[in-house]
Amino acid sequence: MSENFLNSLNESQKIAAQHIDGSLLILAGAGSGKTKTITTRLAYLISIGIDPSSILTLTFTNKAATEMRERAYAMIDSSSVNTPPLLCTFHKFGLLFLKFHMSELNRKNSFIIIDNDDKKRILKTIDKEITTSLLVSEISKYKNTLLTPSEAKIAAQLKLYQQIADIYEKYEAYLLKNNLVDFDDLLLLPYLILEKNEELAKQTSQRYQFIMVDEYQDTNELQYKLLRKLCTTHNNLCVVGDDDQSIYGWRGATIKNILNFADNFKDTKIVKLEENYRSTDTILEHANQLIEHNRDRLGKKLIGTREKGESVKVYESSDENEETRKIIDDITKLVARGESARNIAILFRVNALSRSLEEGFNRAGINYRLIGGMKFYERAEIKDLIAYFRLLTNSTDNFSLKRVANKPKRGIGKTTLDKLDDLSNETKKPIFNILEEYSPEELSTIVGKKNSRTLKVFIASIMDLRDMLEESKMRFLDSFEETFDYRASFDNVPDGFDRQGNIDEFYGYIRDFFIQNPHLNLEDFLNEIALESEQSELTDQAVSMMSIHSSKGLEYKHLFVIGLEEGFFPIIGDGSDIEEERRLGYVALTRAMDTLTLSFVHSRFYKGKRATLLKSRFLSESGLIKGSLTIEKQSSYKKGDLVQHKIFGMGRVQKAEKAGKDFKLTINFGGQRRDILSSFVEKI
Ligand code: ATP
Ligand code: MG
Repeated sequence: MSENFLNSLNESQKIAAQHIDGSLLILAGAGSGKTKTITTRLAYLISIGIDPSSILTLTFTNKAATEMRERAYAMIDSSSVNTPPLLCTFHKFGLLFLKFHMSELNRKNSFIIIDNDDKKRILKTIDKEITTSLLVSEISKYKNTLLTPSEAKIAAQLKLYQQIADIYEKYEAYLLKNNLVDFDDLLLLPYLILEKNEELAKQTSQRYQFIMVDEYQDTNELQYKLLRKLCTTHNNLCVVGDDDQSIYGWRGATIKNILNFADNFKDTKIVKLEENYRSTDTILEHANQLIEHNRDRLGKKLIGTREKGESVKVYESSDENEETRKIIDDITKLVARGESARNIAILFRVNALSRSLEEGFNRAGINYRLIGGMKFYERAEIKDLIAYFRLLTNSTDNFSLKRVANKPKRGIGKTTLDKLDDLSNETKKPIFNILEEYSPEELSTIVGKKNSRTLKVFIASIMDLRDMLEESKMRFLDSFEETFDYRASFDNVPDGFDRQGNIDEFYGYIRDFFIQNPHLNLEDFLNEIALESEQSELTDQAVSMMSIHSSKGLEYKHLFVIGLEEGFFPIIGDGSDIEEERRLGYVALTRAMDTLTLSFVHSRFYKGKRATLLKSRFLSESGLIKGSLTIEKQSSYKKGDLVQHKIFGMGRVQKAEKAGKDFKLTINFGGQRRDILSSFVEKI
């Protein structure tokens, strides 16, 4: 038996990897090798002759599953594995299960999975009044807490929630009739089947003798229940997690799953891992300091194993453009030094913040990849606005007209738009012109009286806005909002904060464009951004940008976290939870291996105007800013460092002595030695 791969583990990791029978909880902080341990455990189980097809490993993302499979296979002779172990996300597992057992619910296994967009469209056909995103999130909540439509009706107190429960019932009927399943069904239906059929639960549990779950802190009640069903006949469940990294509370994930694990599964062995192998000591120290501000935690030790490393940098900028410039400068230097772009990542708490970065990266010609989120211009609300602006500059754009005719909702349905589309094809006239030229009476005969009136008003508004655009480009966006209330349509919507953030970003960008280019018009702007989105292609050699949520489990040699301002990170107020925000901070900081840079600005475009911002409390909580105003030296200096001085040019540090916040440096500028304070030079 060759188990050399076990030698790359420390003692506690080895114990965990070699644990075979009975439940196992690996509870440990970031970068302590939890994922590595279960990956090795998977290889170990196979290496001692356990049938690979009896091992089920569940991960949070597809990417994590792929990586784990590759790593586990690299440890063993994968050619000897006939039936591979099942390694996938919870949702994928649910799908595979349903393919075999959907008939238990008297449904065919030829069902189709619908995505969030489809879901919204279906909900829109059922109800046009209640905001779709609210319906989406409420229905998802019901499903994840196993609430049937009739139970939801009984539970509903407010009229709004009675309506939502009604819509939920209709929605479920629609899915059933058309044999569709949504993402939540992929967890819910397997559970219902196993709940109903005890024999099948036993069989399934016997089939998967060994079950492992990564990122257990982010599982919800339904996932826990499903796992219990899978453990009907055994107790061989191994989960790994970190209570300090629980960041999906808002989606129903519950830390209870970790806290109660040992009570729920008898004779649980608990293994704690206390060494961090990922980050330099300096980075770890700041991450630990930050998370210590949370009360609601189990409290774990996490000791560094690496050298001290470079200081964490804090960038202070006047606005997002300066912030982007600094980061691009740093990245350019890293890449020039031979660093691969794929080792570099930028994280943000609020998605809207990626816009100025994307823009800067496009301009600088740096490849980037926006992970786990759509590119800025692919987001629905931005696509809507672009469609509006296209229609404003081009009457023949039927597609854009159809996209926005009912946004925000004004009662224009698909049937009406289809009729107009047909007429447009027949008459070879753009819909816009039809709506403009036909008399209200003529139009009524095609789309009905009410729609005719609505569409006439819509067209008149577009024409007014065209005039406005001629008159004053700077006033135009205000008039646009006054006319259509597009931004306001996301008020009090669950993901409204992010969407309005994106809209504000976009408006800010347009205003900037007009200020910078007074002679250019809206059409020029549209052309410019069309090119921009073309350029943003996927490549492997790319810097990664993502939300902190998408970064869990990942690691990068060089990491930047932007937007450390109160309100952006942490998000404050309505429904936000400061402890969860802080855990997000901890997740962010612990993604970094070698260097970490945090950035805050004094102002950003926000809610349609430039907002003055205060730096995030997380900067002082993590010990990066002492007192309230001073920023710790951006970097330390040592003999041999190359520096640049505005007047004396490039030089090499001969001697460095700490002098207050600064360093007193003796620098050799091409043979000339000078003593200079570090704040007057830039490190190269
Ligand atoms: P997270 O909580 O962020 O998901 P994790 O606990 O899953 O982190 P891993 O991603 O498994 O941690 O490991 C972090 C890094 O440390 C990886 O680069 C891994 O290869 C390395 N590592 C883990 N254990 C060891 C070890 N015993 N010796 C050397 N390197 C290790
Ligand atoms: Mg991990």
